[in-house]
Amino acid sequence: MHDEPDLGEVCPECGTHHRVIESIPAQPLTQSLVEELRESTNFTFVRGTNWISGKNLGLSTDQEVTEDLIIGTQTKALYLKLYEPGWVVEIEEKPFEDEDETVEDVAQEILLFVSHDREELLFEMLEIISTELDPTYDCPECDYLETGGSTLARNFLFHLTESHNYTGEKALSVLEECTLDAE
Ligand SMILES: [Zn+2]
Ligand SMILES: [Zn+2]
Repeated sequence: MHDEPDLGEVCPECGTHHRVIESIPAQPLTQSLVEELRESTNFTFVRGTNWISGKNLGLSTDQEVTEDLIIGTQTKALYLKLYEPGWVVEIEEKPFEDEDETVEDVAQEILLFVSHDREELLFEMLEIISTELDPTYDCPECDYLETGGSTLARNFLFHLTESHNYTGEKALSVLEECTLDAE
């Protein structure tokens, strides 16, 4: 994956034919729109990932929206990302038939790959903000209470995932809240 791709030709950088999928409305999608897409199209797999509040994108809704979609057709899995012109194909992969792989297997792999990627980025971003703002790390599950001055953001994440079995995604959203409150 790389920055905003050139549309049309097969990309010299990654070999993907980056193009807009016109059948999907060119806007961030809410859970219910993703649901609708799953029901109203022939896609075999439809999942959004990297959900964020619409407010963070400057929308009027604070519902969670996504700009990252993984879809499956009869033969291929695609990762679509929302850019100015619409939903652009970033990754397109066929299953390995020899290994009995299905389109859904490939879609799940892509889902993991792109979700993880975004979590890392978000974490790096939050860690930088944390060192600037001195947030309060207040654990919602126990009386753990630290600040940006007393510990690192990653230690708070570690606490949430290790002590309370939070997923990385959930731990990050708690950290995000603490960081935003510090402003
Ligand atoms: Zn490319
Ligand atoms: Zn705790």
